[in-house]
Amino acid sequence: MALDLSGLNPDQRAAVCATEGPLLVLAGAGSGKTRVITHRVVYLLERGVAPGNIVALSFTNKAADEMRERLMKMTSKAVADALVLGTFHSVGAAMMREQPDQFGVPKKFGILDQGDVYGLVRAVLRDLGLHGQGAERRFDLGAIVQRISLWKNDFVSPADAQGLYFETEYDEAAAAVYGPYEERLRALGAVDFDDLICRVATTLEENAEARAYWQGKFRYLMVDEYQDTNRAQLEVVRRLAGERENVCVVGDDDQAIYGWRGAKVANILGFDMYFKRAQTIKLEQNYRSYAPICRCANAVIRRNTSRHEKELVPQRRGGDKVTLVVAPDGDQEARWIGRTIYREIKERGTKPEDIAVLYRSAKQCDAIEALLQEHGLAYRILGGQAFYDKKQVKDALAYLKVMIAPKDDLATRRALDVPSRGVGLKTIEHLSEFARHRNLSLAEAIHRSDEIADIPSRAAAGLRSFSAAIKRAQAHFYSSGSAVAPLQGLLEGVGLREYVLKEAGSEAAAAARWDGVVWLLEALGRFEQRARAKGGHVRYNDFFQVMNASKDKDEGDEEDAARGKVTLSTLHSAKGLEWPLVLLIGCEEGIMPHKRVSAPRISDAIAGDIEEERRLFYVGITRARDRLYITRAATRLERGAEVPRKPSRFLDDLPEADIQVHDIARDERLGHDNIASMAEAFLANLAKGL
Ligand code: ATP
Ligand code: MG
Repeated sequence: MALDLSGLNPDQRAAVCATEGPLLVLAGAGSGKTRVITHRVVYLLERGVAPGNIVALSFTNKAADEMRERLMKMTSKAVADALVLGTFHSVGAAMMREQPDQFGVPKKFGILDQGDVYGLVRAVLRDLGLHGQGAERRFDLGAIVQRISLWKNDFVSPADAQGLYFETEYDEAAAAVYGPYEERLRALGAVDFDDLICRVATTLEENAEARAYWQGKFRYLMVDEYQDTNRAQLEVVRRLAGERENVCVVGDDDQAIYGWRGAKVANILGFDMYFKRAQTIKLEQNYRSYAPICRCANAVIRRNTSRHEKELVPQRRGGDKVTLVVAPDGDQEARWIGRTIYREIKERGTKPEDIAVLYRSAKQCDAIEALLQEHGLAYRILGGQAFYDKKQVKDALAYLKVMIAPKDDLATRRALDVPSRGVGLKTIEHLSEFARHRNLSLAEAIHRSDEIADIPSRAAAGLRSFSAAIKRAQAHFYSSGSAVAPLQGLLEGVGLREYVLKEAGSEAAAAARWDGVVWLLEALGRFEQRARAKGGHVRYNDFFQVMNASKDKDEGDEEDAARGKVTLSTLHSAKGLEWPLVLLIGCEEGIMPHKRVSAPRISDAIAGDIEEERRLFYVGITRARDRLYITRAATRLERGAEVPRKPSRFLDDLPEADIQVHDIARDERLGHDNIASMAEAFLANLAKGL
């Protein structure tokens, strides 16, 4: 495993070898920052540092998986598995799992997902009389959840929040909800995603023993995408680094795109304020993209005023101009994208995994999904939520829990809700009360619901069939010893599949969503197999924990998941990744920049920021290695009417010499089989003197 440093330039090499003391690598997109981290890990290993002493944090599970993948190739699976690789969240969860007492959580703590958090907040609002009737419409739960999350990450306690000056009624409502919300979390023996970081930060601050323990364990710390860390994450880094300060962070202030979620770009720009001995290394060369792509990126980002000035210097000469595609309407934009991808794959032999469609908002993906489906092309979707965090996967997981860990009330409540079976809130309250009085779990109360008066007959019937389905699945599980087939039977039996189909709207979307459930069943099968191979008893609780905070880490998982598939991704989730061919779509005012920027609503806890939108556009451009298409539509269908769309202001900044325009209405007319349109085009060209 000799590390080859020849694949690095002198600055990268210096960053790899400066292993002791704080180090900041501040550099533009595609300059090899992530490559520095992976090489540094191998370099440390070669110098005898134990893998368990090396921590590398990435921004998304996907990025962490990619890093693991690369490290597996550079070292071995055993070594890669022993490294502490993950996101702040997954590493925080692993720390809590290892030392629950230190962090004040129960041994088998639960981790709430977004849906659970919404449920809790809704319940608290209702208790406070702020939810229901008119109030329900008034308060957007998302805004309240976001506000509480921002407070938590800023170490603002519920008591602190009460004392704040409120700018909007949302802040006021959020402050009222915050305390009871935390109490309910504690009562459930659960934590939310923010706790996975904040709890670690406060424990490391307050508990000297815990601090010594983790500082002794995590001796070398590396953080990728450091520009998007928030205050709580900074504190975790500082407190883990301790006096030793063996911390290397890499990032690019031009790619700071999570300000709306409380990320502080000051963490990276002020790195030497927090770590006084810090050394800074800048990387100037861009190894990723052809020159025209780099020049477009430079021209766009130059317009931002608050930034650390730097330019991408392309190392790859030549390359096509960037193509700006103008479609007459949204439908034709989507069709053009579908057609182009089809031709790339079928006629030019481009590998599907080398193509990505990137967009500003997750909902833009639907039209593209449908078109790829029409062309029979495989795809995978990144963004919004991680795969295992998607609603239908969580729903299926809840059923698994109800089947084999029926004491989990949170899971029971979730399963009870999907698909809906006529069980309203009142009934759930009756059930909870019945359970509380008799010291039962919610599931046990459901099995005995016949004993409870006041349950409407529709709900009673729903509860009976739920109870019967669960009992059947449990019997199947106990007799077969595996959970896979019983779970599958249970999900089909309760009608989850039809439910997913109905919710998805189209068959294509439903199939993609159901894939998540299939994936869960497969992961469960693999988990059981592994446990049996080790000769042991299958500890499903470990499976739940893995599902909650990290991801199945089978060898080749990430590559297998990507192979043969076109990627569809939000810009936020595309950060750090690269593809030979990128289509950046919907580049219009109101989409990118997002309309939140031009017309913010009160419920947007943080109004949009035009510079952040521009950085997002820059992130999009710089994902492309060889070719980049930027598309927009001249009109779009909105509530049944074709509305004209303005091109994104960011397009004005692209250097003319580096772009070519492809106007679909103008340039593709000759391609139609329709003779009339050919004649029309011929005449039009004649008239233009062509
Ligand atoms: P981003 O800001 O988008 O996260 P990054 O700075 O992390 O980008 P990497 O992903 O590490 O950049 O590298 C970009 C591409 O350039 C990768 O394909 C990488 O393998 C390649 N690369 C990096 N350094 C070199 C080098 N010295 N020689 C050749 N290729 C390199
Ligand atoms: Mg990177």
